[in-house]
Amino acid sequence: MSPLAQADVKLPSNRDRDVGWRAFASREGLTIEELLAAPVRWPRPSRLEDPLDVAPGKLADGLKTLGLTSVGALLEHLPRDSRDARTVRGLREGEGATVAVQVRTITARPVRRRGMKPLVEATVFDETGSMRATFFNQPWLAQRYKPGTRLVLHGRTTERGTFNVAHHALGSDLSAHTTPPTRDAGQVGEAGEAGEIAHYPASEGVSSTQILTLVQSVRDALADVPEALSASARVSERLPDRAGALAAMHYARSSREREEGRERLAFEDLLLTQLVFLRRRAARHARRDAPALMQAPSLSERWLSNELPFELTGDQSRAIETIGEDLAREQAMQRLLLGEVGSGKTVVAVWALLRAVEHGMQAALMAPTETLAEQHFATLQTLLGGEQANVTCALLTGSTPARRRADTLGKLAGGELSLIVGTHALIEPDVEFAALALAVVDEQHRFGVRQRAALETMGDPTRPVAGSIRRAPHVLHMSATPIPRTLALANYGDLDTTMLRELPRGRQPIDTRIVSGEAERARAYEQLREQLRAGRQAYVVCPLIAESEDAEEGAAAAAVAVTTDMRAASAELERLRRGELKDHRLVLLHGGMKPREKAQAMAQFASGAADVLVATTVIEVGIDVPNATVMVIENAERFGISQLHQLRGRVGRGEHRSACFLATPHPPAGAARLRALAEHSDGFELAEIDLRLRKEGELIGVRQSGFGRHRIACLPEDAGLLERARARAQTIVAADPRLAEPEHVLLGDALERAFGAQAYEPIPG
Ligand code: ADP
Ligand code: MG
Repeated sequence: MSPLAQADVKLPSNRDRDVGWRAFASREGLTIEELLAAPVRWPRPSRLEDPLDVAPGKLADGLKTLGLTSVGALLEHLPRDSRDARTVRGLREGEGATVAVQVRTITARPVRRRGMKPLVEATVFDETGSMRATFFNQPWLAQRYKPGTRLVLHGRTTERGTFNVAHHALGSDLSAHTTPPTRDAGQVGEAGEAGEIAHYPASEGVSSTQILTLVQSVRDALADVPEALSASARVSERLPDRAGALAAMHYARSSREREEGRERLAFEDLLLTQLVFLRRRAARHARRDAPALMQAPSLSERWLSNELPFELTGDQSRAIETIGEDLAREQAMQRLLLGEVGSGKTVVAVWALLRAVEHGMQAALMAPTETLAEQHFATLQTLLGGEQANVTCALLTGSTPARRRADTLGKLAGGELSLIVGTHALIEPDVEFAALALAVVDEQHRFGVRQRAALETMGDPTRPVAGSIRRAPHVLHMSATPIPRTLALANYGDLDTTMLRELPRGRQPIDTRIVSGEAERARAYEQLREQLRAGRQAYVVCPLIAESEDAEEGAAAAAVAVTTDMRAASAELERLRRGELKDHRLVLLHGGMKPREKAQAMAQFASGAADVLVATTVIEVGIDVPNATVMVIENAERFGISQLHQLRGRVGRGEHRSACFLATPHPPAGAARLRALAEHSDGFELAEIDLRLRKEGELIGVRQSGFGRHRIACLPEDAGLLERARARAQTIVAADPRLAEPEHVLLGDALERAFGAQAYEPIPG
């Protein structure tokens, strides 16, 4: 009798297909009859949900902490790296090592000191020799590990030649996996290596070695692992199946094998995010609820030809054309405008805003900080020039007084305001628009995912408002971080992108030089002083000092970073005050200062009341002092390429020729990076070089953040895989956007598992 028939539940009627049972590789429901008649086949993914066979206790608790409560979860718990397993002969004194051995003899020996549990001493061996191993505080092991037992031991060899065991686990058939594939006796002995053993993220109460044992015990369950990729995709991508890849990760004999497994899993990782992106795009394109701005230009055209004091760059014109086409569609625009600092994104944004206004609709410009929002508001007044009278505009931030806020909100909802500039105060739930056509987000990378989502529903069509029809706004995202195409795909794969590479005419290239050693440094400061005497201003930038780089991540490290950061900058200030810059007015700016103090310091420098700003990297964004023409970056080798490029962008903003000195000890460290800076001024080109250098493994202190959404894939190293995944995702979404074809159904399941049902939103149409 079927277990279902025994169960004391009310069975749904035979024709009811909507009860949650689904046939394998299908999105169709099953009737109870079909379910009962279905043959049992393999794989049976449901068995991956079986609990792990572990007695309650410390180990079980530790596993729970790691989320390892089922067979499937355990198989997905991938080794972080592998430890070289050594042979007994290859062990070196004092070195932490893992060995796979067999027990010859084992005894518990009482210890004289009171309160200490007996030691367990064993003689263990492998094919290269034997040794004594000591286990502490676990007298029962003498009974458990009988002679002949295979063990994996992790520990250290003492001066006396015994092996002190820190972690131990049953080795079962592990020894087969610690044997290198090409193996001749001499080689094994000399290198002392016996292949590799997976090393797992561990936790309180559960060691990597224990996880290893458990993973060995569930090996059969690999047969139940479902394969999300279609056979054709796997064949054309030349990738192993998922079960094979997991086996390679857990039971590999060599790091190459493990890497092949990892690549397969990373590919799926990347494919899934790209599918989310592309399906989100497809869904957006299927909806037609954005206002199509199709009228002939009037205000926007007038503004371009009468008010702009300069000619648009070619890139700006092209961006405006593209955005104009986007805005004319009923499908909401989601475009990312990438262009480094000073490339002239604001003008493009203003044109788009005016395009909305001339259709009698509204537009919003959102910035990540109040300062920036205020700056934009002021810039807008200037840029609008004679057209100011034709555009009603207001500012809304967190510090807008309540009365004014209420007034502004009223005018927004009533349609009396056509433009609003502000911070995320604009996406508060009580902010209503009469007819929002466009939202522009500046420095979009500084907004969180939630804020981005809120923005997309700002004019949510499902939120009915009396007297007006809700429509989805067009959205223009702007970012000043030049990133290589591949990384743009990983982060913004759901957006269309446009780049501004060309800098406005008249912009002076910044003379960038590597300054290595004291003599050259002295000459650089001489040049700096010369500029100061000519009435210019300068920056001196200090890096975080060494201690903070080694620190683990987390709050403690952040505190350390801030204090050392502070010390570095203030020590440098004192040194310069007494030395190189003793006749000049210096001001300090660092991350440990209060916002008000920072603002004060910046204001002092901007007004010319200080000649030199000595700062840490806090000056990266938001400072614009055209009179500053020299920058010295101390210990430049400690910075990443993009950071150096952003820093350098603080000079060369006015009419005067500017210089940037990259100071580094002699001989120069990180030379390839610094040379790239000296030779190139295009941010995108530098970003590509950065990517290449990182792939070639030049160590770099600061890792760009924001590429963390993948579990296995690692960017930028997996950039090549990402390109392949993107192309594959495009093929799939073009052919079968709903993932309804039998060969894509399991991919849909994987998507749902990875991102929840939401990510698997059906595509209308
Ligand atoms: P970002 O891309 O960093 O936002 P902005 O839009 O603030 O750059 O532009 C930087 C400066 O360049 C502004 O002072 C702006 O007026 C000026 N600018 C923009 N486009 C041009 C152009 N085509 N020719 C000359 N100057 C320009
Ligand atoms: Mg800007």
